[in-house]
Amino acid sequence: MIVVFGYIILQFMAWEIMFVRKTNEITDLKQKLIELSTTNSDQIKTELTQLHAKKNKQIIMIVGEGTVFLLLLLIGVYKIKQAVDKEQQLAFQQRNFFLSVTHEFKTPLAATKLQLQTLLKHQLEIEQQKDLIRSALNETDRLNSLIENLLFANQLDSGLFTFKPEKINLSELIVEVCIRYFGKEINRGELKFDLQKDIFVEVDKQAFPSVLINLISNAIKYSKEQINIQFVLKKEKENVILQIKDNGIGISDEEKKKVFDRFYRSGNEETRESKGTGLGLYITKFIVQNHNGIIQIMDNKPKGSIFEIQLNA
Ligand code: ADP
Repeated sequence: MIVVFGYIILQFMAWEIMFVRKTNEITDLKQKLIELSTTNSDQIKTELTQLHAKKNKQIIMIVGEGTVFLLLLLIGVYKIKQAVDKEQQLAFQQRNFFLSVTHEFKTPLAATKLQLQTLLKHQLEIEQQKDLIRSALNETDRLNSLIENLLFANQLDSGLFTFKPEKINLSELIVEVCIRYFGKEINRGELKFDLQKDIFVEVDKQAFPSVLINLISNAIKYSKEQINIQFVLKKEKENVILQIKDNGIGISDEEKKKVFDRFYRSGNEETRESKGTGLGLYITKFIVQNHNGIIQIMDNKPKGSIFEIQLNA
């Protein structure tokens, strides 16, 4: 691209220099013609002054118009480059998306298959059997929530989903979602609830839990060692503020702007450890904004991220 830009600029400069030279040559010839055609020195002087004024005007016109044309051309090339870059980025994200979706489908299926085969082949104690069945059910839940996310993103994109806000107790919903969806993970880590009691908000009962599920599952997924999540829920004037704080790998300032984009995942799918689809935060932001809310990311101390949601009380 730099080469193309360089070539265009050099080519324009070469043309402009050539035009200026040609104008000078024509003026010189005209000057000689005036000197030859008359002997009246006053007349020669006036005609030469006029000739030079005309030459200067022509040079200004060549340089001015050339520069404007060059600028327009460069802006055009730059805009085309931007469009091509965007297209490439989208293609890259979609490729990553298909790789990750395939993986996300295969992993729980393979795990469930193995658990069922073990149940079939071996005579196990009743408790061991129950453990395997529980794990298989967890895997099915995972598969189900992935499919739901995909369908939901599609509904949101096509405008098929209509939000029906109802009054709910957010303080209770947070705890309910944690127990129902993340019971196993909660046992592995530390969860702190700093929730003001009985905070009510008007949200869609079907869509809003997805916000919590996505944010909590990310906080777990992107916490490498110990899971350490803190929930803060408070009412400030007319706003309800929910914060989900983790001590995970954190998000750089540059990525904070991008993580809400559809299919966006940091890094490359082939080299990434944690799996996902890049849809979670896209859906989350979409839902929050449809409740006239704001979602933002801040850095947690000493490390990790804070996802903050502001809703109308
Ligand atoms: P997914 O988790 O399926 O990749 P998301 O849309 O939920 O998709 O998240 C997009 C990206 O944002 C993730 O790939 C990850 O890089 C980053 N991210 C999201 N939540 C967190 C978090 N709590 N800590 C660190 N990075 C995060």
